[in-house]
Amino acid sequence: EAQAADADKWVRGVCRFCGVGCRVELGLKNGKPVAIRGVPDSRTNYGFLCMKGMLFYQIMNHPERLKKPLYRASKKDKFKEISWEEALDIAAEKFAQAVKNYGPNSVAYYGSGQALTEETYLFQKVMRAGLRTNNVEGNPRLCMASAVGGYLTSFGADEPIGSYADIEQAFCFFIIGSNMAEAHPVLFRRVMRRKLDNPKEVFVINADPRVSPTSRIADVHLQFKPGTDLALLNAMAYVIVEEKLYDENFIKNYCVFRVGKNKKKVSFEEYKKFLAAYTPERAAEICGGNITPDIIRLVARKFATSPATMSFWTMGLNQRIRGVWANNLVHNLHLLTGQLCRPGADSFSLTGQPNACGGVREGGGLCHILPGHRPVKVDKLRHQVEDLWGVPRGRIPAKPGYHTIAMFSAVNEGKIKAIWINCTSPAQSLPHVDKYRKGMAREDVFLVVTDIFPTKTTELANLVLPTAFHFEKTGVYGCTERRSQITVKTIDPPGEAKPEVWIVREWALKLAEKLNDPVIKKTVEPFIGLEEGFALPKAIWDEYTQKLTAHRDNDLRGATYEVLMQMPDGVQWPAPTKEWALKGGTYKKFVRGLDPLADKEAVDEKPYQFYGPAHKDRKLWIWLRPYKGAAEEPDAEYPFYLSTGRIIDHWHTTSMTGRIKELLRANPYAYVEINPKDAKRLGINPGDMVLVETRRGRNILPAKVYEGPMEGMVFVYWHDMHEERMINRVTKDAFDPGSKEPEFKICACRIKRISGP
Ligand code: SF4
Repeated sequence: EAQAADADKWVRGVCRFCGVGCRVELGLKNGKPVAIRGVPDSRTNYGFLCMKGMLFYQIMNHPERLKKPLYRASKKDKFKEISWEEALDIAAEKFAQAVKNYGPNSVAYYGSGQALTEETYLFQKVMRAGLRTNNVEGNPRLCMASAVGGYLTSFGADEPIGSYADIEQAFCFFIIGSNMAEAHPVLFRRVMRRKLDNPKEVFVINADPRVSPTSRIADVHLQFKPGTDLALLNAMAYVIVEEKLYDENFIKNYCVFRVGKNKKKVSFEEYKKFLAAYTPERAAEICGGNITPDIIRLVARKFATSPATMSFWTMGLNQRIRGVWANNLVHNLHLLTGQLCRPGADSFSLTGQPNACGGVREGGGLCHILPGHRPVKVDKLRHQVEDLWGVPRGRIPAKPGYHTIAMFSAVNEGKIKAIWINCTSPAQSLPHVDKYRKGMAREDVFLVVTDIFPTKTTELANLVLPTAFHFEKTGVYGCTERRSQITVKTIDPPGEAKPEVWIVREWALKLAEKLNDPVIKKTVEPFIGLEEGFALPKAIWDEYTQKLTAHRDNDLRGATYEVLMQMPDGVQWPAPTKEWALKGGTYKKFVRGLDPLADKEAVDEKPYQFYGPAHKDRKLWIWLRPYKGAAEEPDAEYPFYLSTGRIIDHWHTTSMTGRIKELLRANPYAYVEINPKDAKRLGINPGDMVLVETRRGRNILPAKVYEGPMEGMVFVYWHDMHEERMINRVTKDAFDPGSKEPEFKICACRIKRISGP
């Protein structure tokens, strides 16, 4: 507060951390950042911020910020400072050499849900149309690819249908696989407020193998063995069908049942037969914990009969070898009961990063999708993008590039010779990370990292390029509820740090020269010479939104910079026109009873109620998805489940929050949470040092003994970058065959006390 009182100017923007997208104001004193505050009239956060949001101004002034390009020819050498001219020349030379000698598939870009949309868009454009590779990937593969798969397979269109505003109209919350209270605290505050204001009318169900601050407000906490939630969700559907709690008209008018790889259409009767394997009794046996047939019946009834039910989930469902299926099964409950497409009823996946939706999901930041949700492999859509970019047809390869685990496996195998990692640290965030760090450390792999601080990944780089941070550059973030918000450059970055859009443009121009390829130049031609603080990102945003976003419902044509700057809360897509965007965009993209593609007049009358189901058959799909457990279950040798997750004080790899003294003080190091019964059995006391060992390696962590994890399970937060406590050294890299998202949430481990007071 004292610092806020000092500020002589406040500038609006959006929080740099989680996917909630809280609106903030940065306080400046004599042009220097001194505080951040919330704004009471903001629609996302109503003025509230969590500690991370309030403190991120400290990053801007931090003495450890990267300020000069750093280079070393060999990874054994020390870095030396070089000029931007030299740095970009080296980066271009190394990528050009790899392409010449080994072909376009020997280079790759690995980006981030923290990069601005303009950055992701331009990187992927240069890689795909310039260097002719779809090796464009990003860290959202590690957190929300299964949610994408779930939305696409259930609804035919990605991203949540409703908005945060549904919270204030919901009567039942089903929070599964999400510790929302810590990972999305300001949004959770709205859920909590709704519950506290209406304690009798509002019912909260939390489904999670671990007791967390989220479960503490729940009317029912379903605690089940990790990886058994598919059985639980099918059993809830069983009860809904058996007790005829489904919405017959909704199913008849809007839904079809499908099964298998071929998406075979089946009848409701066949679906009922499928569900017969998931009686509450059988599910209770599979799930263990506190799950009983009666509790399954209770929550299924509450879910179905509440005036409006809203589900939330995140990594607990997504980071699984059947994450897409788990997503489908939550959607199924909404489709069966018609708890969708009306106020307060929604199936809403939460997002971890501030721009995973806007930049990576929508802007073409994954190996299989082009901007505007266009699959790479569809010839017509690929050619459409080539035409819109003005590059020759056939320039973008038809085959998707490497997904994350495949990309770093290709690095391990020496198939990728040059990789650019932007604004993320896979040397800490990948599962079974030691395996992939070996590849990044190879002398024959040229590694460029663009970031604001040294990280575990910069330790393995050849070239480290300092980038501008939030408020030091201009660009757009798209948060979890399809809301695009702009943050405009207000202060200068430290030293010689530069915005990524400048870096990629200059690099592309050098690449074009070295490869003597005018098409590479063409990818950045519209942006040559533009001033990097505003004009350059604006031109990139204009190209992206005006040319590429109207393919599906992800329509941002109305959300120009001019409009976004007039709209403090940003704009929710679809927003096809400026007039539409100036009203805030679209609150809910499917509305019950309205199929606008079939009924154009209805759309004109009700412009806030937009596109209908996006599958070609105009239906929403209820999937028959069987129960499947984890890739690695506990056994005699490794008898515990190890699960990983997040805490409120830190974020991702702690490259930022670990440098904010208040946050570090609040939670200085990771620990292993052990259930008291297990601790007693193994003679482990609070604070003892405990060996946590899996088939892949070992960590040593202090014990926290409490009733959080259920018996037979331990939990470690993954943020800590200290080698002995970095839990991704032991997690497993098995992944979902559909989404390719790894199963961070479950593997088998053993624990042993090794020392103590
Ligand atoms: Fe930032 Fe998320 Fe906290 Fe909001 S809840 S202030 S977006 S970290």
